[in-house]
Amino acid sequence: GAGDVHAEVVVLGSGPGGYTAAFRAADLGKKVVLIEKDSSLGGVCLNVGCIPSKALLHAAKVMNEAEEMGDHGITFAKPDVDIDKLRGWKESVINQLTGGLAGLAKARKVQVVNGYGTFTGANMIEVDNDGIKSTVSFDQCIIAAGSEPVTLPFIPHDDPRVIDSTGALELEDVPGRILVLGGGIIGLEMATVYDALGSDVTIVEFMDQIIPGADKDIVKPLHNRIKAKYEAILTKTKVTGVEATDEGLKVTMEGPDGEKVDTFDKLLVAVGRRPNGAKINAAAAGVAVDERGFIAVDNQQRTGVPHIFAIGDVVGQPMLAHKAVHEGKVAAEVCAGHKRFFDARVIPSVAYTDPEVAWVGMTETQAKAEGIKVGKGVFPWAASGRSLSLGRSEGITKVLFDEDGDRVIGAGIVGPNAGDLVAEVALAIEMGADAVDLGHTIHPHPTLSETVNFAAEMFEGTITDLM
Ligand code: FAD
Repeated sequence: GAGDVHAEVVVLGSGPGGYTAAFRAADLGKKVVLIEKDSSLGGVCLNVGCIPSKALLHAAKVMNEAEEMGDHGITFAKPDVDIDKLRGWKESVINQLTGGLAGLAKARKVQVVNGYGTFTGANMIEVDNDGIKSTVSFDQCIIAAGSEPVTLPFIPHDDPRVIDSTGALELEDVPGRILVLGGGIIGLEMATVYDALGSDVTIVEFMDQIIPGADKDIVKPLHNRIKAKYEAILTKTKVTGVEATDEGLKVTMEGPDGEKVDTFDKLLVAVGRRPNGAKINAAAAGVAVDERGFIAVDNQQRTGVPHIFAIGDVVGQPMLAHKAVHEGKVAAEVCAGHKRFFDARVIPSVAYTDPEVAWVGMTETQAKAEGIKVGKGVFPWAASGRSLSLGRSEGITKVLFDEDGDRVIGAGIVGPNAGDLVAEVALAIEMGADAVDLGHTIHPHPTLSETVNFAAEMFEGTITDLM
């Protein structure tokens, strides 16, 4: 057909993995086509993920801090929330970024083809743009199709009162009582937003703690703080039924105290994400997709078909934007003939809750499970001058070291801006740093970054001055 094109490298999906791969491949001289079904570039992260959630979390933070300053002598009026304007601001942040991407694609002569792509052969993708079909033939392909929210069979997802993270970010209204199903990062971030806007929040989590991936001691300060604000945090509890009634959503839950039925105005389902691998007819290209929809790759992001690569959420956990970006660079460079491997030792995780919870590398829970002996340095932020001057004292910085070499192997940090602090530990791990490296590096005072330095000194037993 008239719209048919050929690409040296075609990238399927324009999320953080896809646009990074497309841009890098173009920078390395490849003729690149980027296929995207949605009207704007940027994928989940920019449109309905990382970025809009952080904009709304900023609004939540400002409201919470203003309220808390009341205890320190500064009282503001109760916030007056213009939800349309807030939504508009969030949209403008998204548009600025996705528009920027379109400009960057143009500048690199990356051709964006709009529509839904499916494989029809080992060197061919068919693109369906509202019924108008075209083809993209390719020498090499990078699959970056991402993931979508998991749905559950016993939940009436068609009911407008049942929402996923995308629905929550749409900010349609401020519900009275909202049940957040899933105490993971996404559920807790959206809970933070709706609590600040005035909803009564209940969290239900099947495991025995919220943020199950992080160590309990690191999660506890967050748990304690939100327990005081929210209606309830129900751990070891599962939702077994949801019935849509005129009065609201009648939810049946089973927890340590038995079965309970309660009615909510909205239900946010945040129980995980599933990869989109099964929806691109990968079999036509000979690419294997497992029963969950993941595509297996080697350490160069190659699928079983040597000229087809895959990156991001579609290749596995952790489903995080910075992992997708890193893999996108690896795949693009390998496509361009460079000898590049995915050899990152660690991928940091951050919950942008208040306080933030961040961790990287080995956790204590993991070390225990694997029988690995670790040393640790723990610094309580109650002894950090900077933290106290923010009106906050609940934070903890914990750095883990291997038993004898004192090499840094992991960290868990909770407190305001923990996510920014964990990057230093990621670098320390990548560089093979030890406790002395962290302890002898002069950190600026007074900053929260000092808590990493202090934790290393706690481990070394050399700490003298806490504030
Ligand atoms: P995606 O971003 O999922 O992009 C895939 C793209 O491919 C989409 O644009 C999709 O439309 C397109 N596509 C799929 N199939 C086809 C097809 N067949 N044809 C054409 N186009 C197709 N991660 C973080 O690191 N930090 C955060 O703070 C963070 N916050 C999040 C908050 C929320 C609410 C959510 C839902 C996620 C968050 N994430 C966060 C996760 C992050 O968004 C993902 O890990 C990241 O977007 C994955 O990037 P990707 O490139 O693999 O795919």
